[in-house]
Amino acid sequence: MTALDTPVGSEVETIKILSNGKWETSSTSRFGSVFNPSSGKVIAKVPFCSAAETAKVIELAHAALPAWSETPAVERARLMFRFRELLMQNFEKLAQLVTREHGKTMVEARASVQRGIEVVEFACGIPSLLMGGILPQPARGVDGETVRHPVGVCAGITPFNFPAMVPMWMFPIALVCGNTFVLKPSEKVPLSANFMAELLVQAGCPAGVFNVVHGDKEVVDVLLTHELVKAVSFVGSTAIAKYVYETGTKHGKRVQAAGGAKNHLIIMPDADLDQAVAALQASAFGCAGERCMAGSVAVSVGGISDELVGRLVDKAGQMKVGPTDAGVDVDMGPLITAEHKARVAGYLDIASGEGATVALDGRKDAPTSGFFLKPSVIDHVKPAMRLAKEEIFGPVLSVIRATSLDAALEIGRNSPYGNGASIFTQSGWAAREFKRHFNAGMIGVNIGVPAPMAWFPFTGWNQSFFGDLHIQGKEGIQFYTQQKTSMTRWFEHASEAAHDPVWRQK
Ligand code: NAD
Repeated sequence: MTALDTPVGSEVETIKILSNGKWETSSTSRFGSVFNPSSGKVIAKVPFCSAAETAKVIELAHAALPAWSETPAVERARLMFRFRELLMQNFEKLAQLVTREHGKTMVEARASVQRGIEVVEFACGIPSLLMGGILPQPARGVDGETVRHPVGVCAGITPFNFPAMVPMWMFPIALVCGNTFVLKPSEKVPLSANFMAELLVQAGCPAGVFNVVHGDKEVVDVLLTHELVKAVSFVGSTAIAKYVYETGTKHGKRVQAAGGAKNHLIIMPDADLDQAVAALQASAFGCAGERCMAGSVAVSVGGISDELVGRLVDKAGQMKVGPTDAGVDVDMGPLITAEHKARVAGYLDIASGEGATVALDGRKDAPTSGFFLKPSVIDHVKPAMRLAKEEIFGPVLSVIRATSLDAALEIGRNSPYGNGASIFTQSGWAAREFKRHFNAGMIGVNIGVPAPMAWFPFTGWNQSFFGDLHIQGKEGIQFYTQQKTSMTRWFEHASEAAHDPVWRQK
C-alpha cells in the first residue's frame, strides 16, 4: 500500500512518530492510507519514514541506553506496573481502536488486548527471572557467576492482524531486560501502536527508551542493517520473516522471526462432535481467519466426514457477519483490505478449479459496505491441492477426508509450515501419539486455537519460525539479554588467615 489515496489537507489525521519521547510529524513525502475495514473508508494517513529519519531514531534510542540499562531492574519493572494500570483504565479505548483499524469484533479485540496485558504482567516479574547463577569454588579460591545483560537497541516489526497484542509480545520484555526499543508497526494498523506508546509515555517511560517509527521496507531495511540495532523481533508472513532473518543475521544481529502458517485440526471418529464443531468454527472463522493459529484444514478421520461437514456448514452458515464498530453484536468482522478480500475469495475459484467442493460459499450475501466475506467450507480437499498447502489467512476452512491417524500425521509431515495443530478425540492414546508425532510446534488437545499464553514461548517450527529463541516467556528474556560469566579470585593478605570451612565451626 504505497499510494496516497486521501488528498493532503483532508480531515483524516496524519499519524505521528514517537522519537526520543516527542511526538513528531514525519518529514517524509510518502504516505499510505489506514482503512476502517468495516466501512471501507480511510481513517488516517500513515507516514512511510525515510531511511535517514529511521537512523536518527535508532541513534536516539542508543543514546538512551546507558541511563536505562543502569536503572535498577525493579524500577524498570515498575514502569510496566504503571503501564499495566493505564492499559486497564484504557482497556475499552484500546479494544475499540483495534476494532476500528483491524475490524475484529469487540469480543475478539478485548481478548487480544487481554493477551497482550498478560505479557506486561509477565514483564512485571522479570527481575526475579533476570537473576543469574553462582557456583562458589569451581576451583580453589575462585568463584564463578553468570549474570544477564541487556543487548542494546532492539527493534520490533509487527503484522496487521494483532495491532496491540503482537507489539506487546515484544517491547515489555525487552524494556524490563534493560534494552531500548524501536517499534515499526504494520502500516495497516498504526493507531493501536501509537496509543500504547502514549500510555507508556504517560507511565513515565524516559525519552528515547521506547520509540515508534512508521513505514514500509525502507524503514525495515534500516532496522535490519544499522550497526546500533542489536536484536530484531519480527512477526509476519513467511517470505518476509525469512528475508528479515537472513538480512538481520547477515548484519550481525540476533533475530527471532515468526512467519505464516497452515494449521491442521484432526477430528478422530470418537471425538465429541458438538465440542469439536464449536471449536473448529471458532478456530477457522474467529478474527475472520486472520490468525497465525487459525485452523485452516480440518482432517476428518474415519466415517464421520459427512456429519462433520454438514454440521460445520450449518453452524458457519448461521454466523452473523457485519460491521464491528456499529455497536451491533456480530460473530465475524471484515478482512483487512479490499485486496486481501479479493485474494481470499480467489481461493474459492481455485478450489472449484482443483476439483474440491465448495460446500459453503462465503461470497454469497456478504455485506458490501466494507471488506467482507462470510465463512466458507470446502469439502473433498486433497493434500496436494493449493487449498491444502498455501496460507489463505481468511475465513475459509478446507476439509480433507483421511482414513487414519497415520494419514493425518503424514499430512503434517508434508506441510512446509509448523505453527499449530490440534486433535479432537476422547482417546488418551491417540492424543499422546499426536502430541509426540505431529510436525508442528504448538499442539492442542480438544482446543481449537492452541496459542501459548505469555508465560510460554510461541514455538513455531519449520517455515513458521526462523531463529533460535522464540518470542515470549523465558525464551523472550533469553533473546533480549546476553550472559556474562565472571570468574573471581581474591588473594589472601598476610594479615588475613584462611578460615575454617563453616561445618568445622562450633
Ligand atoms: P507481512 O509480512 O506483510 O508484514 C509484516 C511486517 O513486515 C509489516 O510491519 C510490514 O510493514 C513489513 N513488511 C512487509 N513487506 C515487507 C518487505 N518487502 N520488506 C520488509 N518489510 C516488509 O505480514 P502481514 O500481512 O502484516 O501479517 C499477516 C502474516 O503474519 C500472516 O502470514 C500470519 O500468519 C503472520 N503472523 C504470524 C504470527 C506467528 O506468530 N507466527 C503471528 C501473527 C501473524
